[in-house]
Amino acid sequence: MRVPDKLLSNPSLSCVRRAMPVSPVTEDTSAVIPNLGGTTEHSFALSKMLRAFSMPEIQEENKMKLEKLVGDRFKERPSDCQIDSHAIMVRGGYIKYMANGIFSSYTPTKRITKKIEQIIREEMDKIDGQEVQFPVVMPASLWQESGRYESIGSELLRFTDRNRMPMVLGMTHEEAAVHLVREYGKSYTKYPFMIYQIQTKFRDEARPRGGLIRVREFTMKDAYSFHTSQEDLEEYYDKCHKAYENIFRRAGVPEVISVKSDSGMMGGSVSHEFMLLTPVGEDTIASCKECGFNANMEAADSIIENTRDEVSAPMELVHTPNIHTIEEICDFLKTPKEKSCKAVVYQRNADDSYIVVFTRGDIDVNETKLRNFVGCEIHPAVITEECGLNAGYIGPVGLPESITVLFDTSLQNTNNLSCGANKEEYHYTGLDIERDCGNVEYHDFAKILDGGICPNCRKHSISISRGIEVGNIFQLGTKYTKTMGMTYLDSNGEEKTPIMGCYGIGVGRLAASVCEAHHDDYGPIWPMPIAPWQLHSCAVRSDDADVKACADKLYDTLQNAGAEVMYDDRQVSAGVMFSDADLLGIPLRVVVSPRNLKENCCEITARDKSFSYKVPVEETADKVMSLINELMAKYND
Ligand SMILES: [Zn+2]
Repeated sequence: MRVPDKLLSNPSLSCVRRAMPVSPVTEDTSAVIPNLGGTTEHSFALSKMLRAFSMPEIQEENKMKLEKLVGDRFKERPSDCQIDSHAIMVRGGYIKYMANGIFSSYTPTKRITKKIEQIIREEMDKIDGQEVQFPVVMPASLWQESGRYESIGSELLRFTDRNRMPMVLGMTHEEAAVHLVREYGKSYTKYPFMIYQIQTKFRDEARPRGGLIRVREFTMKDAYSFHTSQEDLEEYYDKCHKAYENIFRRAGVPEVISVKSDSGMMGGSVSHEFMLLTPVGEDTIASCKECGFNANMEAADSIIENTRDEVSAPMELVHTPNIHTIEEICDFLKTPKEKSCKAVVYQRNADDSYIVVFTRGDIDVNETKLRNFVGCEIHPAVITEECGLNAGYIGPVGLPESITVLFDTSLQNTNNLSCGANKEEYHYTGLDIERDCGNVEYHDFAKILDGGICPNCRKHSISISRGIEVGNIFQLGTKYTKTMGMTYLDSNGEEKTPIMGCYGIGVGRLAASVCEAHHDDYGPIWPMPIAPWQLHSCAVRSDDADVKACADKLYDTLQNAGAEVMYDDRQVSAGVMFSDADLLGIPLRVVVSPRNLKENCCEITARDKSFSYKVPVEETADKVMSLINELMAKYND
């Protein structure tokens, strides 16, 4: 069998990755170096330089044989991995656990995250972002300026250096961003501007989980924009929203959706999270298929419609021994849960004081909404004998004054409800809150229901799903600029405070999320734009001279054309070879084998099994290059 000299017939295809022009360079470069009259040393340096120029850098970088790839791959699912992407990334030689929420990355992960970072850079630069870098370790004093040194809990890692200076490990960099530009931004003429970095951060999570999904040490792109008006911020925020859509599309996950979110401790007003929907996600999302509304459960307004019975019965005390729950009282009275008033009790973390939230019996409390309303950290209550509450019998009539009582909007326009009587073994029937509790204010503390009313289009069309947050954008406002004393002079010479936006993407988390959303039983199916390599070349039976020669030649040809090839020429069984290839999840695979060569063919298959071609040997490289281009183009606009 003859291996064609020229596997790649169409040189115009060699443009996959801005490959530099390829020119043959021999080891002995002296022949092509003109004598410039320099010393021998000089011409040696020059020859080295010329070689560096003519030898395409990309080629060296892409050279990779599986035999040499550091990291082990194995079959068994590790018992400590709860989600598939974590198991796959351990089994496939992507990451290695070092400590709780702390991982090292092997080369495949590094190559994936590098590509993600490059996509992010390009999109951030397109919206006039300027890449900067903040330190990982910062003095506590900077965080004291913003007030977060005190307000953030133990997720902020605090320590002292050798001079007993209190320091922190950066978990976000708002303070550092303001610190960097507060002198620069003294005049309105400098605005707007945006700075961003891609940096390692540390957040001392209580419960790291899911491999790279929730870790303590992670790499993030964080961006900070500065504006002189809310309108300008909003305009830029929309641009950034579009840039994020581009990033996720180009990274191969166009299915990422943006949802309205609660901005929590970031302290802003308008914010969006970008979610990759997957059943293992930590976040709950309310979506409406009718109008396209999406919101994080924590931020979705709950709308409940009630109709009052025509006649309000009087309140009556009912003896209800051994009845404690909403289910039990509704069973006992033979009424639906909607006709009951439920009490949920919390305590403020700071002083353990009690908060009772009343909701309609079928509605659950959304703790984030409650936390935002009361403005402090809370926890589910421990009900003691002395606290004045009768566990299982708590109702809105006759509670001690010392307790904060809140009513959810789900109780608006109701009557004839059952509720606790604040007396051991007794409930009331016939509760009419307006009549019996005086002037009551209702607020939204409820979790939106599956099948509930869409706050946007008002249809009963809400569905609940789960997702992983892969990015977020916030309209921060003046929280940091104000506390840290950043000001500028406007066109009238008046001192003003700039308005900020901030925009994050978790790089490692995005890689793991793509794996979670795109995998089968055998491994990940990486989208071409972020795949660790573009082609996995398998020389099956590489002890066969023809196979080896053909596969070697193909490897060299594709390398020279600028393709990123993982080459497996190990003398192992086809089974081992293919299961390793599945674990590396490279989107394209070419198989050179004695059987294929008998037909003068190579076999090209897709990792996602969407196609499989037998291609004549001499057309294989061309076909591979055009498939790479096609699969890259799929994610461009
Ligand atoms: Zn809707």
